Amino acid sequence: MHDRDGKIWIDGELVEWRDAKVHVLSHTLHYGCGAFEGVRAYNTAGGTAIFRLREHTERLFNSAKILRMKIPYSFEQVCEAQKEVVRVNKLESCYLRPLTWIGSEKLGVSPKGNTIHLMVAAWPWGAYLGEEGLKRGIRVKTSSYTRHHVNITMTQAKAVSNYSNSILANMEATEDGYDEALLLDASGFVSEGAGENVFIVKNNVLYTPDLSAGALNGITRNTIFAICQDLGLKLVEKRITRDEVYIADEAFFTGTAAEVTPIRELDRIEIGIGSRGPVTEKIQSAFFDIVNGRNPKYAEWLTKV
Ligand code: PMP
Repeated sequence: MHDRDGKIWIDGELVEWRDAKVHVLSHTLHYGCGAFEGVRAYNTAGGTAIFRLREHTERLFNSAKILRMKIPYSFEQVCEAQKEVVRVNKLESCYLRPLTWIGSEKLGVSPKGNTIHLMVAAWPWGAYLGEEGLKRGIRVKTSSYTRHHVNITMTQAKAVSNYSNSILANMEATEDGYDEALLLDASGFVSEGAGENVFIVKNNVLYTPDLSAGALNGITRNTIFAICQDLGLKLVEKRITRDEVYIADEAFFTGTAAEVTPIRELDRIEIGIGSRGPVTEKIQSAFFDIVNGRNPKYAEWLTKV
């Protein structure tokens, strides 16, 4: 990953990819207090465009606020940095990774007195859970790891440190031969995937866990809410149990990286027809129309680079 041609935006400068380095005594590297985003740009008919750039940037600023970090750039500068990185690397469609971290001036737990930094990188990244996964659905395992409790770490921050939980869950599931993990909250209710929100479909109604289950407030999740409204599908945010997922007609994950990925199996129990269901397919197709600029209603969600 580190050895590529291209440019990475760091603190206002475009740096050669190979020279984009931080010091080993960076505070965030030791204690995990940092925040990031995952954003995608799509190759639309009108040119390359970043999907919901302002919402992702807003979440980055909110994550930093929750972590008591002050990003030393304006909202507009951070939006512009993301557009610039896609442009200068001549990317048609890509994944973008903005990250804000605490510098290396001092290393006590208190970060006070340290500088705050920001970088934006971008690179081509296809289907996160595989092209086949998008079509046929993936196999998921309920994790033995619990999703963060809302007052142990801050679950509405896309915080660097939150991802050790996601890594453990994903490693456990994939080492057991599954594609991804489903995490339950501290009370045993369904929360989310290691890097995705989750939805189920029962009798043509969609259900997704409300955010008190500790799931990240996903921007794709929010996009699905809009799609449901457009398609006249009822959607309910509520507590969901793992056995409700077993007996659902359909289930799917959503995320910037995962997009809309059907779940065909949970804990070796087949969900519905054991493949991508008709409601998921409709939602997936509406989602790809929106992100690829084929639905004029959502043109404002696409920022040309
Ligand atoms: N939950 C977690 C833990 C995630 O990492 C992600 C990916 N950012 C999501 C949910 C989905 O969020 P979004 O749709 O905004 O990418």
